Amino acid sequence: MKRIGVYICHCGTNIAGAVDCSKVSRYASGLPGVVVARDYVYTCSDPGQEMIKQDIAGHKLDRVVIGACSPRMHEPTFRNTLAEAGLSPFHLQMANLREHVSWVTHDREEATAKAMDLIRAAVARVTLHTDLASLEVPITKRALVVGGGIAGIQAALDIANAGYHVYLVEREPSIGGHMAQLDKTFPTLDCSACILTPKMVDVSRHPNIDLLAYSEVVEVAGYVGNFRVRVRHKPRYVDSSKCTGCGDCVEACVMKKRIPSEFEAGMGGRSAVYIPFPQAVPLKAVVDGTRCLFLTRGKCTRACEEACSRGAIRFDDSERDSELEVGAVVLATGYDLFDARTKPQYGYGILKNVIDGLQFERLACASGPTDGKIVLANGCEPEAIAFLHCIGSRDVNSNRYCSRVCCMYSMKQAHLARDKTRARVYEFYIDIRAAGKGYEEFYERVQEEGVHFIRGKAAEVSERDGKLVVRAEDTTLGRPVEIAVDMVVLGAGLTPRSDAAEVAQTFHVTRSQDGFFAEAHPKLRPVETNTRGIFLAGACQGPKDIPESVAQATAAAGKVTALFAQDFLRTEAMIAQVNEAMCSGCLWCKPVCPFGAIEAVTITERSGRRTVEREVARVNPSLCQGCGACTAACRTGAMSLLGYTDRQVLAEVDAICLGTPS
Ligand SMILES: Cc1cc2nc3c(=O)[nH]c(=O)nc-3n(C[C@H](O)[C@H](O)[C@H](O)COP(=O)(O)OP(=O)(O)OC[C@H]3O[C@@H](n4cnc5c(N)ncnc54)[C@H](O)[C@@H]3O)c2cc1C
Ligand code: SF4
Ligand code: SF4
Repeated sequence: MKRIGVYICHCGTNIAGAVDCSKVSRYASGLPGVVVARDYVYTCSDPGQEMIKQDIAGHKLDRVVIGACSPRMHEPTFRNTLAEAGLSPFHLQMANLREHVSWVTHDREEATAKAMDLIRAAVARVTLHTDLASLEVPITKRALVVGGGIAGIQAALDIANAGYHVYLVEREPSIGGHMAQLDKTFPTLDCSACILTPKMVDVSRHPNIDLLAYSEVVEVAGYVGNFRVRVRHKPRYVDSSKCTGCGDCVEACVMKKRIPSEFEAGMGGRSAVYIPFPQAVPLKAVVDGTRCLFLTRGKCTRACEEACSRGAIRFDDSERDSELEVGAVVLATGYDLFDARTKPQYGYGILKNVIDGLQFERLACASGPTDGKIVLANGCEPEAIAFLHCIGSRDVNSNRYCSRVCCMYSMKQAHLARDKTRARVYEFYIDIRAAGKGYEEFYERVQEEGVHFIRGKAAEVSERDGKLVVRAEDTTLGRPVEIAVDMVVLGAGLTPRSDAAEVAQTFHVTRSQDGFFAEAHPKLRPVETNTRGIFLAGACQGPKDIPESVAQATAAAGKVTALFAQDFLRTEAMIAQVNEAMCSGCLWCKPVCPFGAIEAVTITERSGRRTVEREVARVNPSLCQGCGACTAACRTGAMSLLGYTDRQVLAEVDAICLGTPS
C-alpha cells in the first residue's frame, strides 16, 4: 500500500472563500492509502513546503497530493519540494481547486463536494505514478533572430555581445524596420535615424552576427537547444561582394522613380534596381524581380548593368536555401500599420490630402521625398492640419485593443507640424493615453504650443469647396463639430503582420485573440512562448513603442544567454512511448506529431517458430515534447504518454464516477 500525504491549500481566501478546506482534508484522511491530510493557508510558501518535507520524512510518505491552484504555476514548485525531501518529483499529483472549483462554483456546499471528488481522483491516480527520468541533451549555442527592426537588432546585439553567434534573418533588403522610417521619436524628439543607424552598423560589423537580409525562414524542426532551420534567400540579382552601394545602377534604371517606394510609404518613387534608403544595412543594391522590365518581360536596355563599373548586376541570380542549426530563436517580426482604406469614411486612398501616420513621418523627414517640408499634394504648405486618433483601434468593427503609440505619435506629429509650418493644428481624440516616462509632460508641451485638442472621435472626412471637412462629436461641448482643414493625418493603429498566422505555424507558437504572437504568461513569462526556446521581442507580441520594444528585446536576449549558460538541457520526462508488441506499424501517429519525433523502425521478433521482421513506430525522446497528440491518433493503444497512461487517467475517472460519493 502506498503512503500518501494530502495537502489542501486555502490560497488565502482564493480557495477557502468558496471551499471548506478543513472538511476536504478530513475527508481526504479517510481515503485509501492516505496517512496524513492537512489544510494550510499558503501551501506554496516556505513554511508550507517545509511542512510537506517534514511529513515525507516523519510519516515515510511515498506519494503526495496537493489541492491548490493551477499546476501550470505551482507543479514545478512542489516537484522541487518532493525532490528536496528525497522523493521522485513525479510522485506528485495536483488537484486544481482554484480554477476548477472556487473560481467557478459559488455555492459553498457544492464547491466543497466538488473539491472532495477531485481529491479522491488525485489520490487514486497518484497511487499509479511511476518514476520518470529525463535525458540530458547538449545545447547548440547559436541563436536565430527573426526580424531586423529595432527589437531584432537589439536582441541580436545583446546575444552577440554576450559571446554567442547570432543569425539575424530579415525579409527586406535592409534591416531597420519601421523605426528607420520615422523622423523624430517621442517624447525626446531624437532623430530616429541618428539613434538607429549606429546600431544597424554595429550589426553589420559584429563578428558574432551573420546578417541574412532579403531572406525568410521557411521551415523549423527540432526542439529547444537543437533547432534546425531552413532559410530561403531571395535573389538580389546583384552580387553583394562586388556592389559598393554607389547607386549608379539606380540612376541608370529606365524605371527611375516610377515605382512607389515601400520605404517612403508610397510618398516617393524608386527604380526597379534600388537601395531602400541612404543608411540601408547592408548598403547594397537590389533588383526588384517583380518590376524589372528585363526580368519580367525580357525587354530592357539593361542600363543598370552597363552603369555598374564593378560588374555586380547578375540577372542569372536565383533563389537558394540554406540550413542553420541553432539552440534558441527570438521572433521580432514587428507589426503592419492598420490599412485605413478599410475605413472609407476617412477618405484614405480617395482624397489626396488624407495620409496616414507613416506617410506623415516621411513628409516630415529631412531625408524624405520633400526634404522634410510638410506640403500638400500640390506642393503648397497647408494652413490647417487635423490629426485623427484611434483609426482602426478601440473599435469593435476592426481592432478592439488600444494601439498604444498613436496618441503619442499623433502629438509628436502635431508638434512637428507646428514647428515646420504656420498651420493651425487640431487633434481629434477619444482619450489621451500618455503613460510612459515623460509622455504626460510632452502632452502638456504640445498643448502649450497651441495645438487644439477636440475630445471626440472623428466620424467622417469629406471634401467641400477644395477643403477637407472633418466631422466629429465634441464630447466636451456635447455638440457636433465640423472643421475645415487642408490635410488630414490618420493615426492608424498597429496590427499583426498579414502573415502572422503562417509565421506562427512555422515556429509552432500560438497567437492571442488579437492575432499577435502569444506570450507563455502575460505577467510572469512575458518574453517566452509556449514553445520552449522560442522567445518574443517587440511589436510582434502586441503594440509597443521603441523603449518597450528595446526592453523586451534585451529581456529575450537575457533568456537566450541564460539558456546558453548551461551545457546540457533536460528533456521532457513525460514523453510518448510505444509498446512495440501492440504497435501495428500503421504509423498514423507519425504525421500527427508536430515535432517530428516519431520514426518508423524495423524490429525482428519471433512469431511461433519463425523470426519475422516488421515495422513499428519509435519515439525520439529528445524530440518529443509530450503533447500527447500521437496517443490520441493511435488506434491500437500502443502509444502512451508517460505520466498520462490509460491506467492513470482511468483511475481518476473511476474514482470520480465509481468512488464513494462525497
Ligand atoms: C507612424 C508611427 C510613428 C511612430 N513613432 C514612434 C515614436 O516616435 N517613438 C516610439 O517609441 N515609437 C514610435 N512608433 C512605434 C515604433 O514604430 C515601434 O515601436 C517599433 O518599430 C517596433 O519595432 P519592432 O522591431 O518590434 O518592429 P518593426 O519595426 O515592425 O520591425 C520588424 C522587422 O521584422 C521584419 N520581418 C517581418 N516579418 C518577417 C519575417 N517573417 N522574416 C524576417 N523578417 C521579418 C520586418 O521587415 C521588419 O524589418 C511609431 C509607430 C508608427 C506607426
Ligand atoms: S550594383 Fe553596381 S552600380 Fe549598383 S550600387 Fe552596386 S556597385 Fe553600384
Ligand atoms: S507526445 Fe507524440 S505527438 Fe506529441 S511530441 Fe511526443 S511523439 Fe510527438
